[in-house]
Amino acid sequence: MMLHQDSNCIFCKIVSGQIPARVVKQNDRAMAFLDAFPLAAGHVLVVPKAHFQKIQDMGAPDARAVFDLVHKITGRIESAAGTSASTIAVHNGKEAGQEVPHVHVHIIPRKPGDGAGPVHSMFKNRPRLSAQEMDALLGKMME
Ligand code: 5GP
Ligand code: ZN
Repeated sequence: MMLHQDSNCIFCKIVSGQIPARVVKQNDRAMAFLDAFPLAAGHVLVVPKAHFQKIQDMGAPDARAVFDLVHKITGRIESAAGTSASTIAVHNGKEAGQEVPHVHVHIIPRKPGDGAGPVHSMFKNRPRLSAQEMDALLGKMME
């Protein structure tokens, strides 16, 4: 299979073996490896082998392969890290905090007292939306 890759991309270089990584598991379209600068012990990244910046840029086979790997390894990551929970997150675009512009799913083992919180704790200025505003958003999403 010919892979669309970006020669300047650090995750493409990991996929092609040009730079080393601690690979947890892979399938034909996705790869899971340890984050080199972990937020918690056992922090893993799952990437499509082809270069796409955002979730919606992937085709369905790549999206399925990525989530299949997430599904297969999360239990083992939690038990290896001695936890019974994990935060699974995607920074989908620059404004969301994405620094490496190649889709990656973070799997971060979580423990009581680890100092992090739920996704909700990231948002300090929640909007108050009227029913009309919610309906208008829904309408646009369903179009
Ligand atoms: P982002 O902020 O884009 O969602 O996350 C990028 C992640 O890639 C960070 O958690 C960072 O620690 C990780 N990372 C950056 N460079 C490398 C690398 O060369 N090897 C590995 N294994 N992880 C990396
Ligand atoms: Zn890439």
